[in-house]
This record gives sequence, C-alpha cells and structure tokens, in this order.
Amino acid sequence: MNELPKSVGFKMPAEASPLGFRQIPQKVLLEVEGLRRHFDEGDAAAVERVSFAMGEGELLALLGPSGCGKTTTLRMIGGFERPDAGTIRLRGRDITDLPPEKRGIGFVFQDYALFPHLDVLENVKFGLRGLGRAAAEARAHEMLRLVGLEGLGARRPHELSGGQQQRVALARTLAVAPPLVLLDEPFSNLDAAMRVETRQEVRKLLKRAGSAAILVTHDQEEALALADRIAVIEAGRVVQIGTPDEIYLNPVSAFVASFIGRSNIVPGTANGMDADTAFGRLPLSRAANGKVSIAVRPEQIMLEPDPNGPAAVVGREFRGHDQLYWVQEGERCMLVISGPGAQIDVGQRVRLRICDCVVPLN
Ligand code: ADP
Ligand code: MG
Repeated sequence: MNELPKSVGFKMPAEASPLGFRQIPQKVLLEVEGLRRHFDEGDAAAVERVSFAMGEGELLALLGPSGCGKTTTLRMIGGFERPDAGTIRLRGRDITDLPPEKRGIGFVFQDYALFPHLDVLENVKFGLRGLGRAAAEARAHEMLRLVGLEGLGARRPHELSGGQQQRVALARTLAVAPPLVLLDEPFSNLDAAMRVETRQEVRKLLKRAGSAAILVTHDQEEALALADRIAVIEAGRVVQIGTPDEIYLNPVSAFVASFIGRSNIVPGTANGMDADTAFGRLPLSRAANGKVSIAVRPEQIMLEPDPNGPAAVVGREFRGHDQLYWVQEGERCMLVISGPGAQIDVGQRVRLRICDCVVPLN
C-alpha cells in the first residue's frame, strides 16, 4: 500500500493502491437466485425477485430507497427470514433452508447488539466458545488489535464511543473468520464526521480479514465510497449491478440516474450513437434509437453568460468546492454544477452547453 508523506496532512483512504482497490475476485462466493418474500396479501411483495452473485472477499452494497426490500433480502441471506421462493448458495452449497447458526455467515446488527454486562474482550470471545480458553483469549486479543482497540478490552460497551462499539461488534463477528459478513445500515448510528472515518476503517478491516461483505445502505455516497460493486434495488428488484464508476457513468434507468448522483432527464431522438435534443446533437454513451430519455449530469453542463441567451439563472448555491445553479430554459429547469471560480448571478441570462457523452435511458 502507498504511504503518503506525513506532511500532506490528509489521511489516505484505506486500500487506495491501484492494485488493492475494487478488484472483483473471480471465485464465486454467494449466489442468490429469484429471491422473493411477500408479507401481506394486498401489499406488493417486499422482495419481488432478487438475483445476484458475488465473489470471495468482495464488498457489495445493496443500495436503494427506504422500503425497497434491502433488510428483508439481507435477513433471508442470513437465515432470519424465510423466502417464499428462490435459492441461496454459499460456496456452491444450497443454504436456503438452513438456520442462521448453520450458515457460517456473520451478521452485524444495526444497534451492534453488544452484551452490556460483559467487557469488550468477553464480547469478542463470545463467538469463540468452541475454542479452548487460551486459544479464545489469544484470538480475541488478536481481533482487538486488528480493529485498533487493544488497550480497551476491560471496558464495558457503554464506556466506548459509537464508532468503537461498532468496531467491537465487527471484531466479534470477524473472530470466527466467516467467509461472508452482513451489515445492515452499519453507520446510521454515527454522526456525519464519524461515519466518513468509520466507513473507510470498516472497509480496511474487512479487506484485511479477507471476509466478503454485503452492506445495506440507502446512502448513495456511502455505497460509492465503500463498495467494490453496488446492486441498486428498486421496489424489490435488482435493477442494476456494477462497480461504482459503471453505475454512475452508465445508469440504465431514470431511477438509477437520479438516485445515484443527480441527473437532468431530457427528451431526445436517438439515432445510433447520437441523439438530437434541445441542446443540439449530443454523443451517446451507448447506442439507442427512436424517442429516448437522456440523463445529463449537472457537471456535464457549461454555463455561458450571454445577454441574448435562451435561459436564465434562477437559483445559486455556493458550496466552496463547487457551486450549484438552477437554470430555467422555457418550461425546463436544469441543474448545473460548476467550479467555484466564476460567479453568475441570479437573474443573469445564459446559454447552456453540453460537451460530453450523455446516457440514453431504458
Ligand atoms: P428497506 O430495508 O429497504 O428499508 P425492508 O426490507 O425493511 O426495506 O421492507 C420492505 C417492505 O416490506 C416494506 O414495505 C416493509 O414495510 C415491509 N416489511 C418488512 N418487514 C415486514 C414484516 N415483518 N411484516 C410485514 N411487512 C414487512
Ligand atoms: Mg432496512
């Protein structure tokens, strides 16, 4: 791993070396096929049809809005919820009907579920009762070292910060070296600053332990920052699965384009690798034909001040590293992100230019 000179002042993100980052392993660990769970007649199924495969050691995020079926999917994989249909295979073995404790899958609960009356070391030793006393003790110390809590074994959970408690929960889960760890919204109990720090820490720990993980989150930034691949879930189905870059640069639908990052959706007429739009003829990221909706990212649009321009700035938000503009052109309001340099005032007339490949949507 690359070591940055100390003077730089930034903490290097975990696993930032080009080789260690976001490699997709080839060996299949988990295969989920046609998973379905319908709770109440009359309501839509919580999980309609979820299928995906993941590799050994891979970090997969299940990303989608609240209520789309992420937790139910995770609970079925963990064995806490029975699917109505579908199969789950771990390393080739069908585990669909096994109870949780026979699956060999680790689960980190949202509230960490630490034992309040046991100290940190005892909490970590809890899963290691099968080992001899001395071996369990040694393993628990090793895990505390791994998560950076060596000196805190004698503390009770309530004497730790939220981030530290979560590392104890992770140490307890990883102590038995499960091939797969399930994490449901693991950062939701932490404040914003802790969340950013802890998520890179968790990624590093999982990679070091060699465990694959499924991370459930509704936070697109978290999924982009943490995962090797993201499965986007909409209403109980996986609608797209790919690396963060693929999902951001090539969203398949308006839902994905607007849920991961922000997009302007404009109509156009596609003819192969180009489309005619209100902003002229634009190159497409993939071939399409006929009437299409097109996703244009706010950072793909340039604003040119022009007293005779067809559009006007109707809102502006300065954010330091960049600024957001809302620009009205006829009926359409477009969101534009540009650098912090030039300032265009609200009310000024402008012309919009798009100078990049845009994405035709299904
Ligand atoms: P997410 O984790 O994506 O927010 P969930 O998997 O928790 O979504 O829930 C998906 C849908 O299933 C929601 O509409 C939720 O109300 C419903 N649901 C979840 N668990 C149960 C349950 N035990 N009984 C009835 N409905 C449930
Ligand atoms: Mg949930």
